[in-house]
Amino acid sequence: MSQAILNINTDAIFHNWRTLDEQSANNVETAAVVKADGYGLDAGQISGLLSKKNVRTFFVAIAEEGIAVRKAVGNTPDIFVFSGLMPNDASIFHKYNLIPLLNSSEQFMRYKTEFNEAPFGIQLDTGMNRLGMEAEDFFPLRDKASCASLIISHLACADEPANAQNIKQLKTFCKLTNGLNVRRSLAATGGTLLGPDYHFDMCRPGVGLYGGMPFKQAEPVVKLSIPVIQSRKVLAGETVGYGGHWTAINDTQVATIAAGYADGIIRAIGNGSVHLYANNIPCPLIGRVSMDLITVDISRLDYVPNSLDLLNDLQTIDVLAEAAGTIGYEILTSLGARYVRKYISG
Ligand SMILES: *Cc1c(COP(=O)(O)O)cnc(C)c1O
Repeated sequence: MSQAILNINTDAIFHNWRTLDEQSANNVETAAVVKADGYGLDAGQISGLLSKKNVRTFFVAIAEEGIAVRKAVGNTPDIFVFSGLMPNDASIFHKYNLIPLLNSSEQFMRYKTEFNEAPFGIQLDTGMNRLGMEAEDFFPLRDKASCASLIISHLACADEPANAQNIKQLKTFCKLTNGLNVRRSLAATGGTLLGPDYHFDMCRPGVGLYGGMPFKQAEPVVKLSIPVIQSRKVLAGETVGYGGHWTAINDTQVATIAAGYADGIIRAIGNGSVHLYANNIPCPLIGRVSMDLITVDISRLDYVPNSLDLLNDLQTIDVLAEAAGTIGYEILTSLGARYVRKYISG
Protein backbone atom coordinates (compact mmCIF):
# COMPACT_ATOMS: atom_id res chain seq x y z
CA MET A 1 0.00 0.00 0.00
CA SER A 2 1.40 3.39 -0.90
CA GLN A 3 -1.28 5.49 0.76
CA ALA A 4 0.13 7.86 3.38
CA ILE A 5 -1.31 7.62 6.88
CA LEU A 6 -2.50 10.65 8.80
CA ASN A 7 -2.63 9.73 12.47
CA ILE A 8 -4.93 12.01 14.44
CA ASN A 9 -4.45 11.91 18.20
CA THR A 10 -7.91 12.29 19.69
CA ASP A 11 -6.60 12.55 23.26
CA ALA A 12 -4.51 15.54 22.21
CA ILE A 13 -7.56 17.23 20.66
CA PHE A 14 -9.53 16.81 23.85
CA HIS A 15 -6.55 17.83 25.98
CA ASN A 16 -6.24 21.02 23.90
CA TRP A 17 -9.97 21.71 24.26
CA ARG A 18 -9.75 21.26 28.02
CA THR A 19 -6.66 23.45 28.37
CA LEU A 20 -8.41 26.21 26.42
CA ASP A 21 -11.57 25.69 28.49
CA GLU A 22 -9.50 26.17 31.66
CA GLN A 23 -8.46 29.66 30.47
CA SER A 24 -11.98 30.92 31.11
CA ALA A 25 -14.24 30.99 34.17
CA ASN A 26 -16.57 28.09 34.89
CA ASN A 27 -19.66 29.87 33.62
CA VAL A 28 -18.03 30.53 30.24
CA GLU A 29 -18.80 27.83 27.70
CA THR A 30 -16.07 26.55 25.38
CA ALA A 31 -17.41 25.54 21.98
CA ALA A 32 -15.55 24.00 19.02
CA VAL A 33 -15.11 25.35 15.50
CA VAL A 34 -15.16 22.47 13.00
CA LYS A 35 -15.41 24.36 9.69
CA ALA A 36 -13.41 23.31 6.62
CA ASP A 37 -14.12 19.67 7.47
CA GLY A 38 -12.74 20.03 10.97
CA TYR A 39 -9.62 21.87 9.73
CA GLY A 40 -8.96 18.93 7.42
CA LEU A 41 -9.29 16.27 10.12
CA ASP A 42 -12.94 15.29 9.36
CA ALA A 43 -15.69 17.38 10.92
CA GLY A 44 -17.88 14.35 11.65
CA GLN A 45 -15.13 12.51 13.52
CA ILE A 46 -14.00 15.57 15.47
CA SER A 47 -17.46 16.80 16.44
CA GLY A 48 -18.55 13.25 17.34
CA LEU A 49 -15.53 12.88 19.59
CA LEU A 50 -15.99 16.25 21.30
CA SER A 51 -19.74 15.85 21.79
CA LYS A 52 -19.06 12.61 23.66
CA LYS A 53 -16.88 14.73 25.95
CA ASN A 54 -19.83 17.08 26.53
CA VAL A 55 -18.89 19.88 24.14
CA ARG A 56 -22.33 21.37 23.48
CA THR A 57 -21.85 23.92 20.71
CA PHE A 58 -20.24 23.66 17.27
CA PHE A 59 -19.55 26.19 14.52
CA VAL A 60 -19.25 25.62 10.77
CA ALA A 61 -18.65 28.08 7.91
CA ILE A 62 -21.46 27.09 5.53
CA ALA A 63 -24.76 25.28 5.98
CA GLU A 64 -23.73 22.19 4.02
CA GLU A 65 -20.93 21.56 6.51
CA GLY A 66 -23.51 21.33 9.26
CA ILE A 67 -24.97 18.10 7.85
CA ALA A 68 -22.04 15.84 8.77
CA VAL A 69 -21.77 17.52 12.15
CA ARG A 70 -25.47 17.04 12.96
CA LYS A 71 -25.23 13.38 11.96
CA ALA A 72 -22.23 12.93 14.25
CA VAL A 73 -23.43 14.76 17.37
CA GLY A 74 -27.13 13.83 17.50
CA ASN A 75 -29.97 16.27 18.11
CA THR A 76 -28.97 18.08 21.27
CA PRO A 77 -25.87 20.24 20.53
CA ASP A 78 -26.25 23.64 18.88
CA ILE A 79 -24.64 24.02 15.45
CA PHE A 80 -24.11 27.63 14.31
CA VAL A 81 -23.34 28.64 10.72
CA PHE A 82 -21.00 31.63 10.27
CA SER A 83 -22.21 32.52 6.76
CA GLY A 84 -25.77 32.99 8.03
CA LEU A 85 -28.84 32.29 5.92
CA MET A 86 -28.15 32.40 2.18
CA PRO A 87 -30.77 32.01 -0.59
CA ASN A 88 -32.02 28.38 -0.85
CA ASP A 89 -30.49 27.44 2.52
CA ALA A 90 -33.76 27.23 4.46
CA SER A 91 -34.43 23.52 3.89
CA ILE A 92 -30.97 22.51 5.17
CA PHE A 93 -31.39 24.68 8.25
CA HIS A 94 -34.79 23.09 8.95
CA LYS A 95 -33.83 19.52 8.22
CA TYR A 96 -30.59 19.52 10.21
CA ASN A 97 -31.65 21.97 12.87
CA LEU A 98 -28.84 24.45 12.25
CA ILE A 99 -28.70 28.00 13.57
CA PRO A 100 -27.72 30.84 11.22
CA LEU A 101 -25.54 33.69 12.42
CA LEU A 102 -27.32 36.47 10.53
CA ASN A 103 -24.88 38.86 8.94
CA SER A 104 -27.04 41.62 7.45
CA SER A 105 -30.50 43.13 7.64
CA GLU A 106 -31.18 41.34 4.36
CA GLN A 107 -30.40 37.97 5.98
CA PHE A 108 -32.54 39.00 8.94
CA MET A 109 -35.53 39.63 6.62
CA ARG A 110 -34.93 36.29 4.90
CA TYR A 111 -34.89 34.60 8.26
CA LYS A 112 -38.19 36.27 9.22
CA THR A 113 -39.86 35.02 6.01
CA GLU A 114 -38.49 31.49 6.09
CA PHE A 115 -38.62 30.78 9.82
CA ASN A 116 -40.97 31.82 12.51
CA GLU A 117 -39.67 31.05 15.92
CA ALA A 118 -36.62 28.96 15.08
CA PRO A 119 -33.48 30.03 16.90
CA PHE A 120 -31.03 32.42 15.27
CA GLY A 121 -27.80 34.19 16.13
CA ILE A 122 -26.32 37.47 14.96
CA GLN A 123 -22.81 38.21 13.79
CA LEU A 124 -21.60 41.80 14.21
CA ASP A 125 -18.71 43.42 12.42
CA THR A 126 -16.64 45.28 15.00
CA GLY A 127 -13.78 46.35 12.74
CA MET A 128 -12.56 43.40 10.72
CA ASN A 129 -14.73 44.44 7.77
CA ARG A 130 -15.31 40.90 6.62
CA LEU A 131 -18.59 39.46 7.85
CA GLY A 132 -21.38 40.70 10.08
CA MET A 133 -23.78 43.59 10.64
CA GLU A 134 -22.34 47.02 11.22
CA ALA A 135 -23.81 49.39 13.77
CA GLU A 136 -26.26 51.02 11.34
CA ASP A 137 -27.59 47.59 10.24
CA PHE A 138 -27.85 46.41 13.78
CA PHE A 139 -29.45 49.31 15.67
CA PRO A 140 -32.86 49.11 13.95
CA LEU A 141 -32.89 45.37 14.83
CA ARG A 142 -31.57 45.70 18.36
CA ASP A 143 -34.95 45.07 20.03
CA LYS A 144 -35.54 41.93 18.00
CA ALA A 145 -31.96 40.89 18.70
CA SER A 146 -32.92 40.23 22.31
CA CYS A 147 -34.50 36.98 21.05
CA ALA A 148 -31.19 35.80 19.55
CA SER A 149 -29.55 32.68 20.97
CA LEU A 150 -26.11 34.21 20.56
CA ILE A 151 -24.39 37.37 19.33
CA ILE A 152 -20.84 37.01 18.06
CA SER A 153 -18.10 39.07 16.52
CA HIS A 154 -14.58 38.12 15.36
CA LEU A 155 -11.21 39.68 16.17
CA ALA A 156 -8.84 40.52 13.32
CA CYS A 157 -5.58 40.63 15.31
CA ALA A 158 -6.06 38.32 18.30
CA ASP A 159 -2.82 36.45 17.55
CA GLU A 160 -0.97 39.69 18.41
CA PRO A 161 -1.84 40.43 22.05
CA ALA A 162 -0.30 43.92 21.93
CA ASN A 163 -2.21 45.01 18.84
CA ALA A 164 -4.44 48.00 19.69
CA GLN A 165 -7.18 46.73 17.38
CA ASN A 166 -8.08 44.08 19.98
CA ILE A 167 -9.19 46.62 22.57
CA LYS A 168 -10.86 48.74 19.93
CA GLN A 169 -12.96 45.79 18.74
CA LEU A 170 -13.71 44.79 22.32
CA LYS A 171 -15.06 48.28 23.06
CA THR A 172 -17.15 48.32 19.90
CA PHE A 173 -18.59 44.88 20.73
CA CYS A 174 -19.53 46.08 24.22
CA LYS A 175 -21.05 49.30 22.90
CA LEU A 176 -23.24 47.41 20.44
CA THR A 177 -24.37 44.67 22.82
CA ASN A 178 -24.24 45.90 26.43
CA GLY A 179 -27.67 45.84 28.05
CA LEU A 180 -29.04 43.10 25.80
CA ASN A 181 -29.95 39.95 27.66
CA VAL A 182 -28.31 37.68 25.08
CA ARG A 183 -25.34 35.31 25.28
CA ARG A 184 -22.23 36.75 23.63
CA SER A 185 -19.05 35.35 22.09
CA LEU A 186 -16.04 37.29 20.78
CA ALA A 187 -13.04 34.97 21.18
CA ALA A 188 -11.62 32.32 18.85
CA THR A 189 -8.32 30.65 19.87
CA GLY A 190 -6.35 33.92 19.95
CA GLY A 191 -9.08 35.79 21.83
CA THR A 192 -9.38 33.01 24.41
CA LEU A 193 -5.69 33.57 25.23
CA LEU A 194 -6.15 37.36 25.53
CA GLY A 195 -7.86 36.88 28.89
CA PRO A 196 -11.23 37.15 30.61
CA ASP A 197 -12.27 40.54 29.16
CA TYR A 198 -12.62 38.76 25.83
CA HIS A 199 -14.50 35.67 27.02
CA PHE A 200 -18.10 36.90 27.55
CA ASP A 201 -20.38 33.81 27.67
CA MET A 202 -18.61 31.58 25.19
CA CYS A 203 -15.19 31.05 23.60
CA ARG A 204 -15.07 29.35 20.22
CA PRO A 205 -11.57 28.04 19.43
CA GLY A 206 -10.73 26.23 16.23
CA VAL A 207 -7.04 25.92 15.38
CA GLY A 208 -5.91 25.55 19.00
CA LEU A 209 -7.90 22.31 19.29
CA TYR A 210 -5.92 20.91 16.38
CA GLY A 211 -2.54 21.82 17.84
CA GLY A 212 -1.84 25.11 16.03
CA MET A 213 -0.55 28.58 16.84
CA PRO A 214 -1.32 30.99 18.44
CA PHE A 215 -1.92 28.33 21.16
CA LYS A 216 1.72 27.79 22.16
CA GLN A 217 0.87 25.18 24.80
CA ALA A 218 -1.06 23.03 22.33
CA GLU A 219 -0.21 19.36 22.07
CA PRO A 220 0.52 18.34 18.46
CA VAL A 221 -2.42 16.40 17.04
CA VAL A 222 -1.30 15.10 13.66
CA LYS A 223 1.41 12.74 12.51
CA LEU A 224 1.83 12.09 8.81
CA SER A 225 3.64 8.92 7.74
CA ILE A 226 4.46 8.53 4.06
CA PRO A 227 5.51 5.15 2.61
CA VAL A 228 8.92 4.77 0.96
CA ILE A 229 8.34 3.37 -2.53
CA GLN A 230 11.93 3.08 -3.69
CA SER A 231 15.49 3.85 -2.64
CA ARG A 232 18.58 4.35 -4.81
CA LYS A 233 22.17 5.46 -4.64
CA VAL A 234 22.79 8.78 -6.40
CA LEU A 235 26.43 9.37 -7.30
CA ALA A 236 28.28 12.60 -6.58
CA GLY A 237 27.53 15.09 -9.37
CA GLU A 238 24.17 13.56 -10.36
CA THR A 239 20.94 15.49 -9.87
CA VAL A 240 17.57 14.55 -8.36
CA GLY A 241 14.07 15.49 -9.45
CA TYR A 242 12.43 18.02 -11.81
CA GLY A 243 14.71 20.67 -13.16
CA GLY A 244 17.74 18.78 -11.88
CA HIS A 245 17.42 21.19 -9.03
CA TRP A 246 19.42 19.28 -6.45
CA THR A 247 22.94 18.02 -7.08
CA ALA A 248 24.64 15.37 -4.96
CA ILE A 249 27.91 16.61 -3.48
CA ASN A 250 28.76 13.13 -2.17
CA ASP A 251 27.27 9.76 -3.04
CA THR A 252 23.82 9.91 -1.51
CA GLN A 253 21.15 7.34 -0.61
CA VAL A 254 17.83 8.76 -1.80
CA ALA A 255 14.38 7.51 -0.81
CA THR A 256 11.30 8.35 -2.86
CA ILE A 257 8.07 8.63 -0.87
CA ALA A 258 4.43 8.50 -1.93
CA ALA A 259 2.98 11.97 -1.44
CA GLY A 260 3.34 15.35 -3.08
CA TYR A 261 1.75 18.71 -3.71
CA ALA A 262 -1.49 17.04 -4.81
CA ASP A 263 -1.74 15.98 -1.16
CA GLY A 264 -1.40 19.54 0.09
CA ILE A 265 2.34 19.32 0.70
CA ILE A 266 3.02 22.82 -0.44
CA ARG A 267 5.59 22.89 -3.22
CA ALA A 268 7.35 25.89 -1.71
CA ILE A 269 8.93 23.64 0.97
CA GLY A 270 11.15 21.96 -1.66
CA ASN A 271 14.93 22.38 -1.32
CA GLY A 272 14.44 24.13 2.00
CA SER A 273 14.86 23.34 5.64
CA VAL A 274 12.23 20.60 5.84
CA HIS A 275 13.05 17.09 7.01
CA LEU A 276 11.40 13.72 6.87
CA TYR A 277 11.77 11.75 10.06
CA ALA A 278 12.71 8.11 10.54
CA ASN A 279 11.48 7.80 14.10
CA ASN A 280 13.22 10.88 15.46
CA ILE A 281 16.10 11.04 12.99
CA PRO A 282 15.75 13.96 10.54
CA CYS A 283 16.54 13.29 6.88
CA PRO A 284 16.56 16.31 4.53
CA LEU A 285 13.95 16.71 1.84
CA ILE A 286 15.91 17.23 -1.40
CA GLY A 287 14.91 18.44 -4.85
CA ARG A 288 11.47 19.68 -5.83
CA VAL A 289 8.22 18.39 -4.43
CA SER A 290 6.38 16.62 -7.30
CA MET A 291 2.65 16.03 -7.57
CA ASP A 292 2.73 12.56 -5.98
CA LEU A 293 6.34 12.07 -4.90
CA ILE A 294 9.03 13.57 -2.69
CA THR A 295 12.73 12.68 -2.57
CA VAL A 296 14.65 12.43 0.69
CA ASP A 297 18.34 12.08 1.55
CA ILE A 298 18.44 9.07 3.88
CA SER A 299 22.24 8.66 3.82
CA ARG A 300 22.48 9.01 7.58
CA LEU A 301 20.31 5.94 8.13
CA ASP A 302 21.86 2.49 7.90
CA TYR A 303 18.60 0.99 6.61
CA VAL A 304 15.72 1.89 4.29
CA PRO A 305 12.66 2.66 6.42
CA ASN A 306 9.16 1.55 5.38
CA SER A 307 7.91 5.09 5.80
CA LEU A 308 9.05 8.59 6.74
CA ASP A 309 7.16 11.20 8.77
CA LEU A 310 6.57 14.71 7.46
CA LEU A 311 4.54 15.86 10.47
CA ASN A 312 5.30 14.77 14.01
CA ASP A 313 5.95 16.24 17.46
CA LEU A 314 9.27 17.74 16.24
CA GLN A 315 8.11 19.07 12.88
CA THR A 316 4.67 20.43 13.70
CA ILE A 317 2.16 22.09 11.38
CA ASP A 318 3.61 25.47 12.36
CA VAL A 319 7.22 24.44 11.65
CA LEU A 320 6.14 23.22 8.22
CA ALA A 321 4.09 26.40 7.71
CA GLU A 322 7.13 28.55 8.45
CA ALA A 323 9.15 26.66 5.81
CA ALA A 324 6.33 27.08 3.29
CA GLY A 325 5.77 30.76 4.02
CA THR A 326 2.25 30.19 5.33
CA ILE A 327 0.35 29.48 8.56
CA GLY A 328 -0.51 26.25 10.36
CA TYR A 329 -4.18 26.71 9.41
CA GLU A 330 -3.30 26.33 5.73
CA ILE A 331 -1.13 23.27 6.34
CA LEU A 332 -4.02 21.60 8.20
CA THR A 333 -6.77 22.49 5.78
CA SER A 334 -4.60 21.41 2.83
CA LEU A 335 -4.07 17.89 4.24
CA GLY A 336 -4.81 15.64 1.32
CA ALA A 337 -7.90 13.60 0.54
CA ARG A 338 -5.65 10.64 -0.40
CA TYR A 339 -4.43 10.09 3.16
CA VAL A 340 -5.94 7.37 5.32
CA ARG A 341 -7.13 9.19 8.42
CA LYS A 342 -6.61 7.10 11.56
CA TYR A 343 -7.99 8.21 14.90
CA ILE A 344 -5.88 7.01 17.78
CA SER A 345 -5.95 7.81 21.47
CA GLY A 346 -2.70 8.29 23.35
C1 LIG B 1 -12.47 30.36 11.97
C2 LIG B 1 -13.23 31.14 12.96
C3 LIG B 1 -13.10 30.86 14.34
C4 LIG B 1 -12.03 29.94 14.88
O1 LIG B 1 -10.80 30.59 14.73
P1 LIG B 1 -9.41 29.94 15.23
O2 LIG B 1 -8.43 31.02 15.01
O3 LIG B 1 -9.18 28.75 14.36
O4 LIG B 1 -9.58 29.56 16.65
C5 LIG B 1 -13.94 31.53 15.21
N1 LIG B 1 -14.85 32.44 14.75
C6 LIG B 1 -14.98 32.76 13.45
C7 LIG B 1 -15.98 33.77 13.03
C8 LIG B 1 -14.17 32.12 12.51
O5 LIG B 1 -14.28 32.45 11.20
